[in-house]
Amino acid sequence: MSSKYNVDEKGMYGQFGGAYIPEMLQPNIDKLKSVYLDVINTPEFSKKYVKLLKDYVGRPTPLYYAERLSEKYKTNVYLKREDLNHTGAHKINNSLGQILLAQELGKTRIIAETGAGQHGVATATACALMGMDCVIYMGALDIERQAPNVARMKMLGAKVVAAESGNQTLKDATNEALRDWICNPEDTFYIIGSVVGPHPYPDIVARFQSVISEETKTQLKEKTGSEYPDYVVACVGGGSNASGSFYNFLDDEQVKLVAVEASGLGIDSGETAATIALGDIGIIHGSKTFLIQDDDGQIIEPYSISAGLDYPGIGPQHAHLKDTDRAIFLDATDQEALDMALEVTRLEGIIPAMESAHAFVALNKMEFKPEDTVVITLSGRGDKDMSTYMDRFSL
Ligand SMILES: *Cc1c(COP(=O)(O)O)cnc(C)c1O
Repeated sequence: MSSKYNVDEKGMYGQFGGAYIPEMLQPNIDKLKSVYLDVINTPEFSKKYVKLLKDYVGRPTPLYYAERLSEKYKTNVYLKREDLNHTGAHKINNSLGQILLAQELGKTRIIAETGAGQHGVATATACALMGMDCVIYMGALDIERQAPNVARMKMLGAKVVAAESGNQTLKDATNEALRDWICNPEDTFYIIGSVVGPHPYPDIVARFQSVISEETKTQLKEKTGSEYPDYVVACVGGGSNASGSFYNFLDDEQVKLVAVEASGLGIDSGETAATIALGDIGIIHGSKTFLIQDDDGQIIEPYSISAGLDYPGIGPQHAHLKDTDRAIFLDATDQEALDMALEVTRLEGIIPAMESAHAFVALNKMEFKPEDTVVITLSGRGDKDMSTYMDRFSL
């Protein structure tokens, strides 16, 4: 789709994006850049991908009219149920797409980075399904904190490698994965988990997640007679579920796009992941975007109660959507998100992922009219967050 909000031939979203990479990575990125569109736009590729999404992931995911939430907020709230996907979140849409791309390129070995382990689990799942070697890089600290997901990846046959450098979290795992890719350019494909990294990754991931808004359009048409909601709301970490939720509405300016980032203990607390609110322009993982940094340009460690949102940067497309005022950016604290997680659970009988709970905070921060159609992407289920919920709600 050509749109002034999508990537241009140079790999830029306005002034953001690009591919700022070490020279040794250039051949890998050049190769990917030159073939990805041709590969994923073939009917054979599309047929394989759509079949997997349907039979393996369980798509289309429902678009559910949330009656009691609608009543409470005096508007029309629809939930796009990405929580019902196999493996419990939207990440599998992307992992399966990229593994098919890897196969088309003749690769036999997959590497990926993971923070909380959600992208690691989705990628390890795709590798088990396809019988491919899988190495997941994960910060040593995250390995300690996310034991159940580490066990899942191992059970699925992946090798989990600890990144021992830096703060031993996602940023360090990403650096290790990039290093691996430089050393193994022939047989290895690097599956990035969000709309971040050097061009063409943000575009690849957005395309694979765009199935979310493609389905939303059809489903809304059936339910309301119009393909266009008034608002689409999603949480943003790197920004892949939001990109997918916005994708097919980017050029329909009557559809307002709302992204909610995590402000942790509060915007001014120093313990936050509110990249758009606090960030300056810089380069992270090969991409020019907003990031949270100190006066010397050092990245400040982000914090959020939800591991999926504590990334110090944000995808370049979101930086551009902010720059052009195409999207509205809100932020939600840990406590605001926790309150909404409980409310959604009690009103709708759906326990959301901690990340997704941030999106619902928009219901409290914006004024919606009774006739508005508000689609909120429920990016994942809360199973992985039960220890947080047990702790915070004294269950
Ligand atoms: C990983 C994750 C996110 C954040 O990632 P995005 O790329 O911003 O979508 C949000 N929700 C869930 C459930 C996740 O697992």
